[in-house]
Amino acid sequence: MTGPDDTYTCDACGSTTDRSEALRRETMGGLDPDRWQTLCCPDCGARLKTVLVGE
Ligand SMILES: [Zn+2]
Repeated sequence: MTGPDDTYTCDACGSTTDRSEALRRETMGGLDPDRWQTLCCPDCGARLKTVLVGE
């Protein structure tokens, strides 16, 4: 199941990253890390998007 939401373009370096290739980090700001993760650019480390994971 793929779609346009599964690819992110980095605002910092312009690299396009597939969701499966993005670095995953815990969110900042107190969101539950079991439910939310921050996807980061594997090239420069900039934050791409905060996504809901798990159930
Ligand atoms: Zn980048």
